[in-house]
Amino acid sequence: MPVKPAPANAVVGATIEHDDARTVMAFDLGGPVEASVRSLSNPPRVIVDLPETEFRLPEEARSQASGLVKAYRYGLIDQGKSRIVIDTTDPVRVDRSEVVLAEAGGAFRLEIVMAKVTERELAAVELAEAVRSIEPSAMVEAETKGRSGPPPRPVIVVDPGHGGIDPGALGSQSSEKDLVLAVSRQIERALLATGRYEVAMTRNRDVFVSLDERVAMSRRLSADLFLSVHADSAPSRDRAPAIRGATIYTLAEQASDDLVRQKAEKENSVDLLAGLPASTIADDQVRNILLDLMRRETQSFATDFRQTLVSSLRDRVLLARDPMRSGPFKVLRQAGSPAVLLELGYISNADDERIMQQPDWQARVASSIVRAIDAHFRDRTAARR
Ligand SMILES: [Zn+2]
Repeated sequence: MPVKPAPANAVVGATIEHDDARTVMAFDLGGPVEASVRSLSNPPRVIVDLPETEFRLPEEARSQASGLVKAYRYGLIDQGKSRIVIDTTDPVRVDRSEVVLAEAGGAFRLEIVMAKVTERELAAVELAEAVRSIEPSAMVEAETKGRSGPPPRPVIVVDPGHGGIDPGALGSQSSEKDLVLAVSRQIERALLATGRYEVAMTRNRDVFVSLDERVAMSRRLSADLFLSVHADSAPSRDRAPAIRGATIYTLAEQASDDLVRQKAEKENSVDLLAGLPASTIADDQVRNILLDLMRRETQSFATDFRQTLVSSLRDRVLLARDPMRSGPFKVLRQAGSPAVLLELGYISNADDERIMQQPDWQARVASSIVRAIDAHFRDRTAARR
């Protein structure tokens, strides 16, 4: 049987070579592709952006590490875009990256030549890029919410966490990204079935969406409620058997305790891990102060909804010991849209993981959520009259 040639947009192999000064990482391609390569620090890594790519790397190529390359991962990052993130042992400068014709077989190779640099040298490059990327229109958009008149039906944005290159927490047989997408689809279906809501999903397949994009989508749609869906993982393996149940978070700039702080840091780091540049601190601070005034009504709707959701889930789903919590989750920092983050249960716990996979459990959670949303909007509409 003839061997089918790999399509142009496939990565079929990877090799790493190094000497004292440089490391060359090469990816074998099915054809010539347009690749954009850049280096970032904190943590040090190299980002390779490609058009949507099929990764057909053999098992032994996936776990390679040598020279400056510590590990690498890859996956879909957006509609039509794939990404490889190469974690490096030190900050690196990309000296050369190009697609070359491999000598044998007429195949192509993407070669990336990396050299070690100081944190400082790399920071200068990053700063220049960050200045170019600040988006001044964000506040203006937030302020104009509501001017064109309210939509006829409340807009609910359902936000399945993680996706694509970012699997989220890992259970023994499932990953957070798949679980939360399945549950979110059930929530979407149940909400649409009522005919009372407009529903939008921040992702509807296995694709990476940055936290900023999730928040931007909520702002664009003037969401009346933003529900982020996640699954938890115990802080350590030995505690996994004991920790179970659902938790609902609202935003607080101070975490209520150390565990919540760690959890928020973990959720907030997904953009960095997927290779996005860190937003500058100054930008964040200014934005936070400006948004603070607009947040109060939004925030009280969010805490009201958290309460309603806990009551609605209580008799149908196992809740964590302290199910109503708050912390500095980036995806909840929204000026105009009440936002909560629901951790369905602990994927690190065998019982929780098994239960959460069951479609009837998922349907039960979805209907409890719809019940809570119905009650919440009944109250909100009544309060306006
Ligand atoms: Zn998560």
